Amino acid sequence: MRSQNMLWVQAAVILAKDPTVKVICPESSDDFLEVLDIASPTDASLIERHMRCPTCGAHNSMRMRTDNKSDI
Ligand SMILES: [Zn+2]
Repeated sequence: MRSQNMLWVQAAVILAKDPTVKVICPESSDDFLEVLDIASPTDASLIERHMRCPTCGAHNSMRMRTDNKSDI
């Protein structure tokens, strides 16, 4: 589980730099992740980045700041 969490974090870091990069599913390596950004209703500089595998349904989300993308 711990190593999979690391893979999710790595995926988030890669997608923070370029959201169009295809990142393989960290859970099952069976498909590429779909990315959906949802802006926080209370803080315009904060978004939730949802990452989901369309094949196995694995899902994770990270909060990140749009004004400082290295702060994950
Ligand atoms: Zn998957």
